[in-house]
Amino acid sequence: MPETFDIRIPDLGDYADVPVIEIPVTAGQSIAKDQTLLVVESDKATLDIPSPVAGRLVEMLVGLGDTVSAGTLVARLAAEEPAAQSRAESRAGTAELAPAAIVPSKDGHGDGACDVLVIGGGPGGYAAAFRAADLGQRVILVERDATLGGVCLNVGCIPSKALLHVAAVTEEAARLAAHGISFGAPSVDLEKLRAFKAGTVRRLTDGLAQMARQRKVEVVRGTARFTGANAVTVALHAGGERSLAFARAIVAAGSSPVALSMLPEDPRIVNSTGALDLPFVPKRLLVIGGGTIGLEMATVYSALGARVDVVERLPNLLEGVDRDLVAIWTKRNAHRFDRVRTGAEVVSATAGPDGITVALAGDAETQTYDLVLQAAGRRPNGAGLGLDAAGVAVENGFVPVDAQMRTSVPHIFAIGDIVGQPMLAHKAVHQGHVAAEVAAGHRAGFDAAVIPSVAYTDPEIAWVGLTESAAKAAGRTVEVARFPWAASGRAIANGADYGLTKLLFDPATKRVVGGAIVGPSAGDMLGEIALAIELGADAADIGRTIHPHPTLGETIGLTAEVALGLCTDLPAAARRA
Ligand SMILES: Cc1cc2nc3c(=O)[nH]c(=O)nc-3n(C[C@H](O)[C@H](O)[C@H](O)COP(=O)(O)OP(=O)(O)OC[C@H]3O[C@@H](n4cnc5c(N)ncnc54)[C@H](O)[C@@H]3O)c2cc1C
Repeated sequence: MPETFDIRIPDLGDYADVPVIEIPVTAGQSIAKDQTLLVVESDKATLDIPSPVAGRLVEMLVGLGDTVSAGTLVARLAAEEPAAQSRAESRAGTAELAPAAIVPSKDGHGDGACDVLVIGGGPGGYAAAFRAADLGQRVILVERDATLGGVCLNVGCIPSKALLHVAAVTEEAARLAAHGISFGAPSVDLEKLRAFKAGTVRRLTDGLAQMARQRKVEVVRGTARFTGANAVTVALHAGGERSLAFARAIVAAGSSPVALSMLPEDPRIVNSTGALDLPFVPKRLLVIGGGTIGLEMATVYSALGARVDVVERLPNLLEGVDRDLVAIWTKRNAHRFDRVRTGAEVVSATAGPDGITVALAGDAETQTYDLVLQAAGRRPNGAGLGLDAAGVAVENGFVPVDAQMRTSVPHIFAIGDIVGQPMLAHKAVHQGHVAAEVAAGHRAGFDAAVIPSVAYTDPEIAWVGLTESAAKAAGRTVEVARFPWAASGRAIANGADYGLTKLLFDPATKRVVGGAIVGPSAGDMLGEIALAIELGADAADIGRTIHPHPTLGETIGLTAEVALGLCTDLPAAARRA
């Protein structure tokens, strides 16, 4: 069956409710791509509305004299050849595809049949389930944990940020002593801190449960396992089993922390989930793993009073981030750490009455810690899902997918951590929306140019797109512009004059291809650089955009001005990178 396209009026700038003054085509006619379908008239000009695809005009839905605005549905076309659509169109869901073969769905809930079954209620899974429901699909969402939200809401992004907020304010308050405002040493009430963290999480997970009810998404509590290409069995939380049948499934089963085999079982050895429980404030904490999660938890425990050591197997902390930013971060964080060992590996750990005694490869001396956090990475939750029973291919535990998030079995989709790096919540959400849209018969694809990354430490480090080190490794020439925050009035006022904003440009196109920021609120500001890359903006687009003054975000515009050679906030010699 040919694909049917809804043709809508595109963005008309400032105009709305403009009259149709000409319709040069008729129903049944063959239409070429870009052929004019309608002519509309504003008070200043006439505008042709072209067809975005080639096809046969099925129906013209407006007549002469009708008024139209951006988004008005004006015609339907049956495609004669597959047509590529812009992301904006496909994400707006304006074009519909014939849905995949459907297991007949019955009215009402509780019969165990659905159009779309989602396994996993994390950010990827709930986003997919809610989007599919919003697109009219009958959805069942299976989650093995007691609450929706997955790692991110329950034991990841949100609880860690609640604690990092407390850590940042505590340390910022202490820094005010230099400006004449002293509060004295903080006293820590762990019980209350845990309650604040739990309350933050509960507010969000309760909200999800409510939104699932509103959308009539049936939530089944239990662990799902495929028994065939259109069926799963759920080992129910409440006991017993339930069989569910689906037309399409979205696997959003996420990931779990890697457990290091040389570490013994002991309550004083925890992963990120155990660390977020705040069992106690250790005098000495060892963090195994110098990536984002390990360093965020190091920040929290240090602010609460722990002395921290870090061991990282790779040559650098925050591997993958440009060294100039990490150098600034390292200097600002020197007070937290006794020992930071990179290129080093833990070879043994022994639990004793005085703590956990840890040996590193090649070190004669051991160290004893009150608490050890293993933050050595995460692995996908592919095992136990019965993916083989559905015929879904798995590679090294990850589920390979195409741009439409389809697995090797076209009506089964996978999204989020289980499909690969980067394991980040915002990636999972976007993939969830794509999978839901495709599963509901819409044209969509995951075509993000970049996925931003942030370490929410103190200071934050945020980076997106190409890094200088990756460009160098790939032998790719880039133009680099830096704006040191020592020249930012707001950064000086905020005590953040150590920060840095950096942008990378393609020398041929002058488009921004990457950016990074170290300093407070770096993560909040990074979205502008991500948007600039997605839009193909160049230095002039960013530098000529008026940023509010005085803000830290202004440094992005100033960095672009450096690239353009017209920054007047730096000495003349430093204007060009
Ligand atoms: C400490 C920490 C901090 C983090 N901070 C950030 C951050 O600041 N920003 C960021 O973007 N990312 C962060 N992350 C990563 C982020 O949490 C994950 O990338 C995100 O949660 C992945 O979403 P997901 O939907 O793919 O999977 P998950 O969130 O892992 O959800 C998967 C869900 O599937 C369920 N499930 C698994 N198997 C089954 C089954 N067989 N049947 C039923 N249910 C099943 C699980 O119980 C889980 O609820 C952090 C992670 C950690 C650990």
